[in-house]
Amino acid sequence: MTPLIVANWKMNPQNLAEAKRLFNSVKRDSKNTKNVEVVICPPFVYLSLIKQFNNLTIKLGAQDCFWMEKGAFTGEISPLMLKDLGCQYVIIGHSERRRLGEPDEIIKKKIKAALKVKLNPIFCIGETEEERKKGETQNILKSQIEKGLEKIPKRQIPEIVIAYEPVWAIGSGKPCDLDEAQTLGLLIRKIIAHLFSPIISQNLRILYGGSLGRKNARDYLKEAHFQGLLVGGASLDPKEFVQIVKAVSEA
Ligand code: PEP
Repeated sequence: MTPLIVANWKMNPQNLAEAKRLFNSVKRDSKNTKNVEVVICPPFVYLSLIKQFNNLTIKLGAQDCFWMEKGAFTGEISPLMLKDLGCQYVIIGHSERRRLGEPDEIIKKKIKAALKVKLNPIFCIGETEEERKKGETQNILKSQIEKGLEKIPKRQIPEIVIAYEPVWAIGSGKPCDLDEAQTLGLLIRKIIAHLFSPIISQNLRILYGGSLGRKNARDYLKEAHFQGLLVGGASLDPKEFVQIVKAVSEA
């Protein structure tokens, strides 16, 4: 399975010129990397510009989408618009959106809407520090998966990528321990096997995200057996991000 590296720029950088510089730098320096799929998810407003500079070696993704295709939904962005801008992926259910009040029910609608227009959802799940301390991690992951993927037809599951992102590891400089991450990656696979089928589960790409950098990126693939990474902070430093891509491409 080709590993997938997804850059989540979040609400950065603050102007178009900087976005262009960041993108071109990653594009130039990751040009010769092989056996790795790289996706950049900039803020919506930069997608159009980045599409013009892209040469298809890097894929484009969005950080969210709405669940309807068109209509009177002030401020929302339709999955069809993202598709038209050349996006192939869309992050759905990121913990920073869950924290703003986005419930599982809405996440499920967004996943369905993305699949309908053939965008690949990057479905984020993960427990908070409090939930982990209370020993609720496994139940939280199970519940997020069951609710987020409820009534999604089996045949569409292969279009989805799951990103395991412990909320306490995001932006904290404290990545999840490799053994713990591996155990939870396996649990996610088990849940999918139970809900859909063992074959679907085996072929699913599961990413790890949370305080990744060039030094630990490779370990999550080689030792904890994830099939890719979701990178936040480090994706804003083109040198660091390209080193992550290279580390994975050589893994
Ligand atoms: C994220 O927000 O998806 C993330 C992984 O962030 P960071 O890499 O900064 O921990």
